[in-house]
Amino acid sequence: MSTVSAVSTPSYQYETVYAAVCRHFEALDVASDLKPGMRVVLKPNLLYGKKPEAGVTTNPAILKAVIRWLTERGQTNIAVAESSGGLFNAEYMKGVYQASGYRVPGIQEYLNQDFTFGRRPTAEGFTTRAFNLITPILEADYIINLPKLKTHAMTTVSIGVKNLFGTIPGLQKPDMHRRYPETRDFVRMLCELCETVRPNVTLLDAVDSMEGNGPGGGTVKHTGLTLCARDVYALDVTAVRFMGLDPAGIPHLQAAREMGLLPGSIDLTGDEFIPCSPAFRLPDTRKSTGFDDSVPKLLRKPAEFVMDRLLRSYPDVDRSKCVGCGRCAESCPQKIIRVENKKASMPRRGCISCFCCQEMCPVHAISVKRGLRGL
Ligand code: SF4
Ligand code: SF4
Repeated sequence: MSTVSAVSTPSYQYETVYAAVCRHFEALDVASDLKPGMRVVLKPNLLYGKKPEAGVTTNPAILKAVIRWLTERGQTNIAVAESSGGLFNAEYMKGVYQASGYRVPGIQEYLNQDFTFGRRPTAEGFTTRAFNLITPILEADYIINLPKLKTHAMTTVSIGVKNLFGTIPGLQKPDMHRRYPETRDFVRMLCELCETVRPNVTLLDAVDSMEGNGPGGGTVKHTGLTLCARDVYALDVTAVRFMGLDPAGIPHLQAAREMGLLPGSIDLTGDEFIPCSPAFRLPDTRKSTGFDDSVPKLLRKPAEFVMDRLLRSYPDVDRSKCVGCGRCAESCPQKIIRVENKKASMPRRGCISCFCCQEMCPVHAISVKRGLRGL
């Protein structure tokens, strides 16, 4: 049985968040894990630099509260480490930290300054024999995973397991998309990555979440909750239920079940919560073909099945919004995006529908269009 702690957290007011962190860590007895001098690494979600109110990144109040909790218990060897979308170097990450509100007292002293990486073998070899991981993760004695609750164009949701994709160094992330272009393979890789990184505790920021075209271009949904667990899969299952969705329909949880990683049962402790109603709006990429009442009910499911195999979602750029920054081209694993005269264009041929381009576009100029596969 895996325990998930739920605490109603109505705002990012610092003392409110700190009280929630205290309750979570008390419920899971995190203090008993700590040893003097151990290297504790906090892994937030910083997809890219964005102000906290945008709902894209783990709110700095969460980081500040966790750091305070750790320092009050004598921990001094703490690092906040993340490899955002884009480059993994001091200059780029400084901008990300600044824009995300992390360069403030109580966090900035702990921001990672090591931008090297190394290799760690996988235990099972389900999808690969080893991963390249950022050095702070490789050197950590204890990892606290701090994801943000969001929808995701490719993987449907981004919670605890998906957050660990940010342990892969910088622009090696598009390489992983190229190696695992199909969602079912990509999410198996994510589960194996999770087994390789092995976070000790995961604390989810669902105070303000993101629905719709996440993880970067959706809309903020105030959900007023934090969840915490030692078992990241148990946390993801609970968070998906909270979103009003069915865990059986979430790709990485299907993969985790097949790989024998899901807990047998989950013990919920703390505050009761009601699943969101209406449920979180899904990204446009995940919407089914959705035949209406003009199609007989019996035929609707098979018709949707056929259409979903004939059609595929592709990115479509609104050239009037595009500012020509080139971030989409930089993150495209297939290197098919061209930016000319400060406008991006993306052909369908060669596209693997990973939506890294949409994820990284700072002005939300990229939407989703359905088209015939392979054309
Ligand atoms: S164009 Fe966009 S969706 Fe297609 S492969 Fe490149 S990044 Fe992925
Ligand atoms: S990331 Fe967005 S704004 Fe930048 S070039 Fe691509 S489409 Fe244009």
